[in-house]
Amino acid sequence: MNKPALAIVVPCYNERDVLHETAKQLKEVLNALISEGLISPNSKIVFVDDGSRDETWRLIEEEKSGSEHISGVKLSRNFGHQGALLAGIHSAKLWYDCIITIDADLQDDIHVIRDFIIQYQNGAEIVYGVRKSRSTDSFFKRATAQAYYKFMRKLGIDLIYNHADFRLMSKRAVRVLEDFEERNMFLRGIVPMLGFKSEVVYYDRKERFAGETKYPLKKMMAFAFNGLTSFSIVPIRIVSLIGVLSFCLSFLTGVYAVVQKLLGHTESGWTSIIISVWIIGGLMLMSVGLIGEYIGKIYWETKRRPAYIIETDLTDDDQES
Ligand code: UDP
Ligand code: MG
Repeated sequence: MNKPALAIVVPCYNERDVLHETAKQLKEVLNALISEGLISPNSKIVFVDDGSRDETWRLIEEEKSGSEHISGVKLSRNFGHQGALLAGIHSAKLWYDCIITIDADLQDDIHVIRDFIIQYQNGAEIVYGVRKSRSTDSFFKRATAQAYYKFMRKLGIDLIYNHADFRLMSKRAVRVLEDFEERNMFLRGIVPMLGFKSEVVYYDRKERFAGETKYPLKKMMAFAFNGLTSFSIVPIRIVSLIGVLSFCLSFLTGVYAVVQKLLGHTESGWTSIIISVWIIGGLMLMSVGLIGEYIGKIYWETKRRPAYIIETDLTDDDQES
């Protein structure tokens, strides 16, 4: 079998504290795979600078000049993790047979990259890295993540449990990914929709070894909600259902109130009125908000704005030289 050219795509946002170490460790892995004859010597690590405000890009350029196995892509501004991943994947697919995406902070075990490649050689088009445990996460992150996966599963959204964006994709899978024209890509939900032969590789997730998380609670919640509304209209249905139920209930309450009045048992009634006004008001606001969320999605999609803009792509120069 031909040795595949591998690109390891690493999105980086203000990662100056980890970049050097990450480059060093990934190079070691790459070199080992090359000398083992598992991948082509043209394989590379592609760092994507997602509009960092620190000296991340300068460090990437430095790493590149120090090693033929390193390249970089610079985005024109910060587009977010998913945008950076897409930019890296799409620019790499021109030159490489398979692409692995991994975070810059070395939380994912880079030694399973070898297993990814072996699965790929055995015919898998997609290989998912799945964490064995979440012992390094806080109790809160663990509990919310678990509830989220369960909830999504219930709604029929096929997420790979405990898989983040550490995965291998073949060129073929990436090509198909391009047919998904939505701008707001939630890769974890989309990739399983591609089908193809896929495999799972388990690993232990470590602590971020330096720098801090770029996913504080607020961003994490937005990410989770986005994932939900991008893949399911069940929430809108639930809201309509609640609407119907509460309407039936208020109808029954109304009948009851009229009967009571006719029988002369008039109640002061203020409490029940005020409560129902609040409940209905709340429901209405909630429904309108949720529907607005979907309309907002349509709004963004119709604009067809790019998910990323590349300012400099060093992978082009590599191929020309
Ligand atoms: N990242 C990015 N753009 C952003 C935020 C994050 O490219 O706007 C990158 C970041 O540099 C890292 C990866 O996405 O390589 C995951 O981020 P992080 O490790 O902070 O998230 P966590 O592991 O805490 O969920
Ligand atoms: Mg991380």
